[in-house]
Amino acid sequence: MTYDPAGSVPASEALFARANAVIPGGVNSPVRAFAAVGGTPRFIASAQGAYLTDADGNRYVDLICSWGPMLLGHAHPEVQAAVAAAITRGTSYGAPTQPEVELAEEIVGRTPVEKVRFVSSGTEATMSAIRLARGFTGRDLIIKFAGNYHGHVDSLLAAAGSGLATLGVSSTPGVPASSAGQTIVLPYNDRAAVTAAFAAHGDQIAALITEASPGNMGVVPPAPGFNAFLAETCTRHGALFISDEVMTGFRAAREGQWELDGKVEGWKPDLVTFGKVMGGGLPAAAFGGRADVMAMLSPAGPVYQAGTLSGNPIATTAGLTTLRLATDEVYARINRAADLITNGIGDALGKVGVAHAIQRTGTMFSVFFCDGPVTNFDEAKRTNDQAYAAFFHSMMSQGVYLPPSAYEAWFLSSAHDETAVAQVLEALPSAAEAAGRVIA
Ligand SMILES: *Cc1c(COP(=O)(O)O)cnc(C)c1O
Repeated sequence: MTYDPAGSVPASEALFARANAVIPGGVNSPVRAFAAVGGTPRFIASAQGAYLTDADGNRYVDLICSWGPMLLGHAHPEVQAAVAAAITRGTSYGAPTQPEVELAEEIVGRTPVEKVRFVSSGTEATMSAIRLARGFTGRDLIIKFAGNYHGHVDSLLAAAGSGLATLGVSSTPGVPASSAGQTIVLPYNDRAAVTAAFAAHGDQIAALITEASPGNMGVVPPAPGFNAFLAETCTRHGALFISDEVMTGFRAAREGQWELDGKVEGWKPDLVTFGKVMGGGLPAAAFGGRADVMAMLSPAGPVYQAGTLSGNPIATTAGLTTLRLATDEVYARINRAADLITNGIGDALGKVGVAHAIQRTGTMFSVFFCDGPVTNFDEAKRTNDQAYAAFFHSMMSQGVYLPPSAYEAWFLSSAHDETAVAQVLEALPSAAEAAGRVIA
């Protein structure tokens, strides 16, 4: 490291030491460990509105929002009241409930899906959507794009070398070659690669899955018309088009990324996966889509899928309350805050001459520390990690909590008011200087 990770945080350090003794790497999801930026992960004691408070009592403006879910900010009073009331009625029954029906109606009402099935995580949603696509088409191959993340599903943890359609090799030990070998990994935004893969394997491809607008390599929006091209190519070859909106759903815009392209251009995905915002901060996710495809799912059809806590009444209540409060006004507020912050970042980095690309879809954005535009994973890897780490720690020391990795989206909430935004803007110039010192 070419800089000093900022600040002493003894309570977080002590918890991290205890955590490391009993939890692999001290965390329950890898990016939380701060491995990419160095320093001690902050153990969070509480959160309110736009702010996180760590175990040492430090308060931060939160620009992660639980990696997306907290669209309304933390501890929103109406969501909390609804959850508290639901808890008094018991926490799980293993039988159907009214909140599930209402959340399903809400999702069907504001997205292109006709029917929806609840699960507990985004990983389960993409895993189940893929099984359903294979069951529906009777085919095995899946296409995904490099740098797109769909949860830790075996067949989707495949990466490829370069170039055109390569049958994937696993990118983690533990995934059998036979599983990764069913996945074709292509460069994002590359129409020729998609055309070539379908030309070679068209009659064996069950589905193409893509993030609706990738946010897991930093924000890399689809080129205009790219999603429409994917949908049309899939249809032509009898494959299903799965749009992964786990991150973008009810986040990029009120109806998700689809509102920004498919709705305007007049096409629909066959299947869509959801998570993050739709759980309102509790474990809830879903997959849905065409009624004829969803009819293949058990108990209506032969493709098996189930879950003890699927549609859990507390989680669906949190999600339903969040979505009902997520009005056009909420998205307008978040977009205004995103305008101010992205302008501030551009000004601060521009002033010190640090190469950067700020990329955005709807309310979501991220900052690459390299020249843009960034259109695929290879280009995303040009970002200067060290410069980002210096920027990150300077922001942390000034009370602004950023994603601890240069390859992640930044998330705001409707609780990011003038005061919270002002604190971010004030911190930017010296963080930009810290990044500049790494590059110089
Ligand atoms: C977060 C995410 C997932 C996985 O969701 P989990 O709830 O973490 O399993 C899948 N797809 C996308 C696009 C995501 O951002």
